Amino acid sequence: MAKQYDALALLSGGLDSILAVKLIQDQGLTVLGLHFTSPFFGKTHKFDAWKELYGIDVVEVNISRDYVDMMLSGPPHNYGKWLNPCVDCKIMMLRKAKSLMEKYGAKFLISGEVMGQRPMSQRRDAMSLIRKQADVQDVLLRPLSALKLEPTPMEESGLVDRDRLMGIVGRTRKPQLEMARERYGFTEIPTPAGGCVLAEASAAGRFIKIMQEKAAPHPMDFVVAQVGRQVWADHRWLSMGRKQVENKRLEKLARSADYFFKTVDFPGPVSLGRPTDAGEWDRETIRAAAELTASYASKAVKHFEATGRPVKVSVSHRDEIVELEVEPRRETSVDWQEPKQDLVKPWKQALAEALEQHD
Ligand code: SF4
Repeated sequence: MAKQYDALALLSGGLDSILAVKLIQDQGLTVLGLHFTSPFFGKTHKFDAWKELYGIDVVEVNISRDYVDMMLSGPPHNYGKWLNPCVDCKIMMLRKAKSLMEKYGAKFLISGEVMGQRPMSQRRDAMSLIRKQADVQDVLLRPLSALKLEPTPMEESGLVDRDRLMGIVGRTRKPQLEMARERYGFTEIPTPAGGCVLAEASAAGRFIKIMQEKAAPHPMDFVVAQVGRQVWADHRWLSMGRKQVENKRLEKLARSADYFFKTVDFPGPVSLGRPTDAGEWDRETIRAAAELTASYASKAVKHFEATGRPVKVSVSHRDEIVELEVEPRRETSVDWQEPKQDLVKPWKQALAEALEQHD
């Protein structure tokens, strides 16, 4: 049987979620943090630090598949500024958290939401909608804003002392920072938000391109899309390491169906070509990707410029390895382009229209 707790908390690792847990722990109640992970957010490497610094037990709840499916079908409550479907994201997490209450013997859920703090998911009406649609009206407590919200059954029954909760509202961070420093003496103050790439402009074009080119992308595709330099030639997708750590990451992420490029006699980047629904690559594309990969290996480029001799690039694909001799070049017969951010608006529009028709 799993260890039992009084409450489960949505724990992104941002300051608000940590403070919400502390307020409940202060009342002698035990709390387990649920840290949701997906290709777009998740910091499982911090679990030990959170335990040590803030005294919080945490488990990972991986929602990757459901999350990607929601992104593909279009979040019913729309996206935020970029590709962040905050309202539907919160609903999904709360539903999942509710389904885990029995396992951990929990009597209620908590979240670190602060009314009015974020434009999309923390307006009063959005918070109320999230609570209803996740079906957690009777079990969700938001300790940081509790005094500005209707008392919950947990407060009414006396399980939680309402007088010891907070009434923080708005975008100010001052009360949270004061609590962190003065009340709890945190030596390390986490950033306000949990760190989600969906809310970043730079990632949006990369993710949309995948959703356009693959009808059923694997969650790991979105992880690959966050590594290194990303280029596309129509339906053909190439990820190139820009430094050692990215090369290693791409090596780990490579699968047999991918095309994996590496300069043979010179250090340099590795590149990973991942087929999309358009199928296998032709010879011209493979050669062009090898030429591009070699063009980022500075020693290989110098060698070519000095001797005029081509550079060897190995290409692995479906357990076969071949070596191509290529001239390093950035402008290849195939036109590699970085995905553009201006894909975002038309993508959202198309999804909204599809959803309207569906209704
Ligand atoms: S920022 Fe990301 S993780 Fe946070 S609610 Fe929005 S979509 Fe979810």
